[in-house]
Amino acid sequence: MIGGGFGGLEAAKHLASAEVELTLIDRRNFHLFQPLTYQVATGALSPAEVCYPLRAIFKGRRNVRVMMAEVTAIDLADRELRLRGGGGEELRVGYDSLVVAGGSAYSYFGHEEWREVAPEVKSLESALDLRARLLGAFEEAELQRDPERRRALLTFVVVGAGPTGVEMAGQIAELARDTLRNEFHEIDPGEGRVLLVEMGDRVLSTFPPSLSRRAQRALERLGVTPMLRHTVVGIDAESVTIEAAGAEAERIAAHNVIWAAGVTASALGANLAEQTGADLDRAGRILVEPDLTLPGHPEVLTIGDMVRVREADGSARIFPGVAPVAMQQGRYAAKAVRARLEGRTPGPFHYLDKGNLATIGRARAVADLHFLRLSGFPAWLTWLLVHIWYLIGFQNRMLVLVRWIYSFLTRGRGARLIAGPGRDGRREP
Ligand SMILES: Cc1cc2nc3c(=O)[nH]c(=O)nc-3n(C[C@H](O)[C@H](O)[C@H](O)COP(=O)(O)OP(=O)(O)OC[C@H]3O[C@@H](n4cnc5c(N)ncnc54)[C@H](O)[C@@H]3O)c2cc1C
Repeated sequence: MIGGGFGGLEAAKHLASAEVELTLIDRRNFHLFQPLTYQVATGALSPAEVCYPLRAIFKGRRNVRVMMAEVTAIDLADRELRLRGGGGEELRVGYDSLVVAGGSAYSYFGHEEWREVAPEVKSLESALDLRARLLGAFEEAELQRDPERRRALLTFVVVGAGPTGVEMAGQIAELARDTLRNEFHEIDPGEGRVLLVEMGDRVLSTFPPSLSRRAQRALERLGVTPMLRHTVVGIDAESVTIEAAGAEAERIAAHNVIWAAGVTASALGANLAEQTGADLDRAGRILVEPDLTLPGHPEVLTIGDMVRVREADGSARIFPGVAPVAMQQGRYAAKAVRARLEGRTPGPFHYLDKGNLATIGRARAVADLHFLRLSGFPAWLTWLLVHIWYLIGFQNRMLVLVRWIYSFLTRGRGARLIAGPGRDGRREP
């Protein structure tokens, strides 16, 4: 198994009880619950509450080996992986069956220079960096005498109004207006501006329009300004430049830009495509067979954010880039490997879409459960229960639940620490 994220971990858990020798390889030693990394970035949760050590999950399972290493290449002809360990050592691992679940990364649409000034929240490291930048901006504003610079420090621009952008914008608004209220002398954190820039004509475009409208109203009530039909054309350390169709580009002085726009698939997809001729789309997703195998390689299954699946009529189906897709494909991959071992051929993969959830803030969320559409407190409660349910580890579930109850009652955030490099790469001596 390559990847201890949602897809790879689910596949490993469901295969571990079979009579197999299983090796799970990830560049990190932990599983990260990505849907809650933005809460780490805004001080609502601590890192250990959204992560779980991979070794601990398979403790006592003698047939499962966990390796912390970067997979640098997959050699399909020799059925071998090339790995690089933490100390830079190169090694090779052979396989009979392979599940590739390398996930995706944020794409800056060809503007790699923006990555430095507009962090995202896909990894724990970037979430911690962002936390230091966000909290640091309020501290710097408190000491700043120049009103224009102070305003720029207290201007937060979130790029992309999908679920992550909406959640991020809502959390920053609550941090400024509720959590930090009455804590500063020179500034009123509540005067900070939160702008949510989106190219499309509505927030949460994967939800039904009625829920998008409700989410937008909830954001506005929190003090977020959605800027729909606007495109970001420039970002530097001091500003962001945006453009609306037919209008002049506008430069907004802002020291905090958060990237929550498009994603690109793991580079392992390109590595596999080179060897098989499988089709890659612009987002780097590889086209796999209806049973998630690589064309011509029934021993290799590729799952999660990095794939598109060929339909019976030859067209490519793009599943949403969400955890339930990766988890269902992970479970399917485990079953498919078992079937192959028993000489059976698995049927095609089918996705059961149970709906869509996004939270905006305290007691504010939207839920599209297909048979039922919810917003406000009922949607938020649904969101909360689903996330608690899917978190890994009993201790994490309890800790997160206690944190959320406490935050709900007090509007406080227990992990507001400025530690790590932050905006200027500063570290303590
Ligand atoms: C900020 C954010 C919020 C999200 N919120 C939600 C949400 O609310 N609900 C929802 O359903 N989905 C959400 N998602 C999407 C969801 O997290 C992904 O769809 C899901 O993680 C995909 O699972 P995966 O197994 O394909 O990849 P991942 O979970 O990303 O796992 C990939 C794993 O592979 C490892 N890896 C990658 N390349 C290599 C390599 N070369 N060598 C070794 N290891 C490697 C990585 O370290 C990682 O552990 C969110 C995503 C983000 C970024």
